[in-house]
Amino acid sequence: MDPAEGALQRFADVVGRQHALTDPDQQLPYLREWRDRYFGRAAMVLRPGSTLEVARIMEIASDTGIGVVPQGGNTGLVGGQIPSEAGTQVVISLTRLNRVRTIDAVGGSMIVEAGVTLAKAQEVAEEADRLFPLSLASQESCDIGGVLATNAGGVNVLAYGNARNLALGLEVVLADGQIWDGLRTLKKDNTGYDLRDLFIGSEGTLGIITAAALKLLPRPREKATALVAIPDLDQALKLFRLAEARAHSGLTAFELMSRLAIDLVVRHVADTRLPLSKPSPWYALLEVSSPDVEGAASRTLEGVLTEASEQGLISDGVLAASLAQANSLWHLRESASEAQKPEGGSIKHDISVPIARIPDFVRRAEPLVEAICPGARPVVFGHFGDGNLHYNVSQPPGMDKARYLSLWGRMSEAVHDLVSRMGGSISAEHGIGQMKRGELVRFKSDVEIDLMRRIKATLDPKGILNPGKVL
Ligand code: FAD
Repeated sequence: MDPAEGALQRFADVVGRQHALTDPDQQLPYLREWRDRYFGRAAMVLRPGSTLEVARIMEIASDTGIGVVPQGGNTGLVGGQIPSEAGTQVVISLTRLNRVRTIDAVGGSMIVEAGVTLAKAQEVAEEADRLFPLSLASQESCDIGGVLATNAGGVNVLAYGNARNLALGLEVVLADGQIWDGLRTLKKDNTGYDLRDLFIGSEGTLGIITAAALKLLPRPREKATALVAIPDLDQALKLFRLAEARAHSGLTAFELMSRLAIDLVVRHVADTRLPLSKPSPWYALLEVSSPDVEGAASRTLEGVLTEASEQGLISDGVLAASLAQANSLWHLRESASEAQKPEGGSIKHDISVPIARIPDFVRRAEPLVEAICPGARPVVFGHFGDGNLHYNVSQPPGMDKARYLSLWGRMSEAVHDLVSRMGGSISAEHGIGQMKRGELVRFKSDVEIDLMRRIKATLDPKGILNPGKVL
């Protein structure tokens, strides 16, 4: 038996034969991501059922030098969760670690395992009359381990911060199989280096998150939601500032969509329609939350819309009159990603710039894209309030998809160079994975890359944790 085969047998002994997948059909869902951009091969897909099993797997991997690719809900957008094509790595899926260990509604925390889906974590919090505010369109599928490993953002970062801000502690299996129990639920703990924050956002390259202590917040009494039509991005910026001034931290979302982004949703996604009288170049979805008496959030948002209309910042708007209507407005925004797929190739950029520079960024990016591919169509949407745009560029209608996608490198280089000149980031929330590895070194200083490499070498000296990702 060759050494790799011996290791595979040992892995299977840890998790049990039925959770050590070698059959290609059974492996398939773990080897490709939903956009079909990344496809890998694996010697085995392992589905451990406990932290101890994860630790045993890492001991064996460390012994034998086999690369391990951690995977949660497989919704990542930069290929970080997909193994290489060599077929020598193993995927370790955390989805069976799906227990809620404790919930402390009074103390404001809960401890959940890595494979609990984000939607489930929200539900559990709600059952305890608390709020776990992280919210992404992929929340039914993505896992707590995955959202922490990517430091996910989403639609409520504006008020509550990203995944990092909502984590109190972690349990992590290290590259050599040791378990770090950092499941503290303290708000204040200045006892040396912050190991928790090192693992958050490390995309499975420094350790495997097996459980997390998460913050629970008070639930808002009321949420008010509106969709407005905006003539141009300068007005969007003014509207954002106005909404912020009137609602303060009650402004829980300010999402932007271009006309094309919303047109594609209405064209391709069932049960969607634009609830405004005529099309507009830009739209924003605003959400105001209030802990106070019923009606306070609606009154604030209504006031914002009236003022905005008087100042000419918006040309039309609808304030949701029911939860169903609010959900259908959110459905428009949350369908923006999937609506691009039927349009053929899409070159994606998840960027952020200082918020005041968004209008300028969009104006300057357009001619760059047009010069590389005449007729390519920017489908711009995103978390405007965080300065984060998904600057996705769909192919010209009728163009060969593969030919279009072959322009990815040139187009991204141009867009990312612009982002960098404007003081922005080439990955606002999706991470680096395998997609932006080359780009990372173009924009980080030598000092920063060197520090990152030294941290990686310390925590994973054999290079077995998610090889080929991030660095
Ligand atoms: P996976 O895709 O399985 O893995 C992602 C990365 O984390 C990989 O590098 C993997 O190796 C690593 N990893 C996974 N689990 C662990 C673990 N337990 N320990 C260590 N490493 C691990 N992202 C946003 O930030 N904001 C959005 O608004 C947003 N919207 C989305 C909308 C759609 C429709 C889709 C499909 C995706 C969206 N995403 C968004 C991206 C994605 O959902 C997030 O990155 C999510 O956090 C990934 O979680 P996951 O469980 O699916 O992780």
